[in-house]
Amino acid sequence: PVNAAGLAAWIRHAAHLVSADAEHLTRLDAAVGDGDHGLNLDRGFGAAAEAVGALSDDATPGKVVLTAGRAIVSKTGGASGPLYGTALRRAGKALGDRTEVDAAALGAALAAALEGVQELGKAAEGDKTMVDALIPAVSAYEGALAGGADLASCVRAAADGAAKGAEATVPLRARKGRASYLGERSEGHMDPGAASTALILRALADVTV
Ligand code: ADP
Ligand code: MG
Ligand code: MG
Repeated sequence: PVNAAGLAAWIRHAAHLVSADAEHLTRLDAAVGDGDHGLNLDRGFGAAAEAVGALSDDATPGKVVLTAGRAIVSKTGGASGPLYGTALRRAGKALGDRTEVDAAALGAALAAALEGVQELGKAAEGDKTMVDALIPAVSAYEGALAGGADLASCVRAAADGAAKGAEATVPLRARKGRASYLGERSEGHMDPGAASTALILRALADVTV
């Protein structure tokens, strides 16, 4: 199981990885969008890490994730801010007021995050968005869980699924977000939001060893 401190460590580590990779994410977004994805997320996750750091020691895991989501919504520009903020807020709500998160509860939170992103952004699988990393992440997580894997293995499966999903966005034509304005010229580039989703789930895998 993972507790509030573990999820706070995730948000801090995600902020660190996003910051280290900001230039790469921005370069991906420069090819298909407006070149601000790295900057947007760096600001958002920086604010999330700060907000989580300011919580009292008795905050629940759900509160940690909800707080990160709220900070991202209020501090992140672009389409990705409300989408990541919604993902984290939904995940936080799904965790409820439990103090320990087991593999099943974390899987339900991940599924709730995906549902929130799709409700808000209306993107389907194959539209070349973060959804194309989230869907394989959720399926891989649920597959591992059904196979009896422990929490850390489920999270690793999800991170690997997201990375493969992000890779698979390269040939796709964007049908949502700014990249869709490019039409067929969006083909041949990885979707920046799918890349950052893979990074954020990698961060979770790193801290749940
Ligand atoms: P903006 O495009 O507004 O500058 P960002 O560059 O921060 O925002 O984020 C772009 C990413 O947001 C895209 O790569 C894509 O993954 C994601 N995105 C955009 N629109 C949607 C949507 N409707 N549903 C899901 N994800 C989306
Ligand atoms: Mg952008
Ligand atoms: Mg923008």
